[in-house]
Amino acid sequence: MKKKLINIFTNDTEVSLETQATLTKKLIDRGYTVTGEYSQEAELIICIGGDGAFLETVHSCDFPSCPIIGINTGHLGFFQEISPENMDKFISDYEQGEYSIQDLSTVLATVTTVDGRENRHVGLNEIVIKGRQSYSVHLYISIDGKPIEKFSGDGILVATSAGSTAYNYSLGGSIVDPRLKLLQVTPIAPMNTTAYRSFTSSVLLPAELSLGVVPEFRENRIFIMNDGIETGYSNVRDIKVEVSDTTVHLLRFKDYDFWNKVKTKFL
Ligand code: NAP
Ligand code: MN
Repeated sequence: MKKKLINIFTNDTEVSLETQATLTKKLIDRGYTVTGEYSQEAELIICIGGDGAFLETVHSCDFPSCPIIGINTGHLGFFQEISPENMDKFISDYEQGEYSIQDLSTVLATVTTVDGRENRHVGLNEIVIKGRQSYSVHLYISIDGKPIEKFSGDGILVATSAGSTAYNYSLGGSIVDPRLKLLQVTPIAPMNTTAYRSFTSSVLLPAELSLGVVPEFRENRIFIMNDGIETGYSNVRDIKVEVSDTTVHLLRFKDYDFWNKVKTKFL
């Protein structure tokens, strides 16, 4: 029986490239076809590097429908599952079906400009809404269509559960177990004056509610970051941020434990 296709992506550190070469050989020896380009026919995507490399792979494959597994050659790696020493164990567990699939939800921002055009941005970690560099941004924020606050500050971050340990955590947001499907709205340096009022902590929204953002009249430039990928807009009418239909499917093996990762990275 012909075995199927595996796509391998890697960052360009020495250890990642070595890992890629070794792994490619092992998989070819076992009868797989291995390529470094994304194909819809792939049964598995392997990403070698840290969390940054993982995010890049997910975006370059446009949120693939097949499972994805990370080999960690960066720092800790919240998305990354395997260490390079455990490649053989990984291959045999994979072939024997000794894994589960962890579906991670993503966050969608729909930006509508005054001409009515809609632009969509999806993030696995988060969506950030900011103003021009080094300027504060003024935003009307609503939850589920109801006005809630008039924000002034550096910006607003909306994190997924999986993204809660990234930028969100640096901003004082909470760590969320990825089994919880929700959005965490974290203010970035909010000002609280008589003119602008904002929550000073994160708020958590259930997956079925959306966040609405309307820039104040004076804002002529708004920046959206999905997982650090920045897009600038002029003439934004409104932005809707919600849980997206897109999910990312991670392979997880027996030893996977989110809280152990949290402990190892932060404590
Ligand atoms: P980067 O600025 O090179 O790296 C940001 C750091 O965040 C890296 O150490 C990365 O891990 C880590 N990271 C990424 N996703 C994570 C997650 N879900 N949980 C825990 N740590 C995570 O940018 P990048 O590597 O392209 O990653 C983009 C992400 O950077 C954005 O989505 C945003 O969350 C984060 N970011 C953080 C800050 C901050 O904390 N002040 C500022 C800007 C952006 P690796 O070292 O393993 O790659
Ligand atoms: Mn990085």
